[in-house]
Amino acid sequence: MAELNKTIIRTGLETLYFSGMHHLMRPLVGGVGAILTLHHVRPPRSDSFQPTRPLEVTPAFLERLLLRLSRARIDVVSLDEMHQRFISGDFKRRFVCITFDDGYKDLMRWAYPLLKKYQLPFTLYVPTSFPDRLGELWWVALEAVIAQNSRIGMIINGKDQFFECGTLREKRELYDAIYGYLRSMKTEVELRRVVRDLCARYRVDLASLCRDLCMSWEEVAELAANPLVTIGAHTVNHMILKKVPNDSTVRAEIEMSRSVLEAALGKRPEHLAYPVGDATSAGPREFRIAAELGFKTAVTTRPGVLFKVHRDHMTALPRISVNGDFQQQRYLKVLMSGAATAMWNGFRRVNAA
Ligand SMILES: [Zn+2]
Repeated sequence: MAELNKTIIRTGLETLYFSGMHHLMRPLVGGVGAILTLHHVRPPRSDSFQPTRPLEVTPAFLERLLLRLSRARIDVVSLDEMHQRFISGDFKRRFVCITFDDGYKDLMRWAYPLLKKYQLPFTLYVPTSFPDRLGELWWVALEAVIAQNSRIGMIINGKDQFFECGTLREKRELYDAIYGYLRSMKTEVELRRVVRDLCARYRVDLASLCRDLCMSWEEVAELAANPLVTIGAHTVNHMILKKVPNDSTVRAEIEMSRSVLEAALGKRPEHLAYPVGDATSAGPREFRIAAELGFKTAVTTRPGVLFKVHRDHMTALPRISVNGDFQQQRYLKVLMSGAATAMWNGFRRVNAA
């Protein structure tokens, strides 16, 4: 995310919080519940260059959040329970669902003990190539390439181009630029090719990143055996589905991941998360395919709280990202009030286009 964008969000959150506006707006925008998104949970790293930091929170922050949720007049529920409430129109009490994407080892070590301590249900969305040790965590690989080098060469538009990245500032700018360039590529196949080239050139081993960071099948199975835990599908290869040209490949990515999870864990997943999940990564075609495949729910990373009308859009649900850059309870309070995301969405309740 660009620095400017972050500043705007932070200023917006501060303004809402200190003006108390989020309380005033809550009856308008608070909705019936919210789904929280988390990725990594681990103690802070000391490196100054951490472009992927928004994807992680500390165990201490998570514990404060869980404590707050368990004391609030709000039900922390599983996705099945949330789905049931939508179907039966039971909105007497506001609810929150806790979800983790990708299945990182740090969840097992730092988050799982806390979730058990407070007995809170949660969902883990697993791309099956990650425990298969074939996952390409290209956003992490890019961080490693830039962190370990002071000059990067890559082929752009058929020409070899070089970029200085000796200083922290240059590293941050280069990460944003290459990340943006990769995300702008037409197909996921091209994106992966560029990342593989970069990794080969600068000796970053994609396979060992996957092995070091992601849970094994044994760990996923251990979680799946706990009734507090729901395992959801997240495709096989963590594809940005909107970049996949043909419908049949999108369908296969989703369907295959469900079958692999079912074979490994003995239970057929009924919930799905679209990889990356913003409006440029999943849209109406993906929402339709998920519904056709019979998923009860599918979640995006489009920001927003839930309203009764989402009953008609159960495969295009928004979430609230618990962002590592905003690890203060007051930010989360504002986000969960729905005020900040309502402003983001221009006061539209459903954003499924
Ligand atoms: Zn993911």
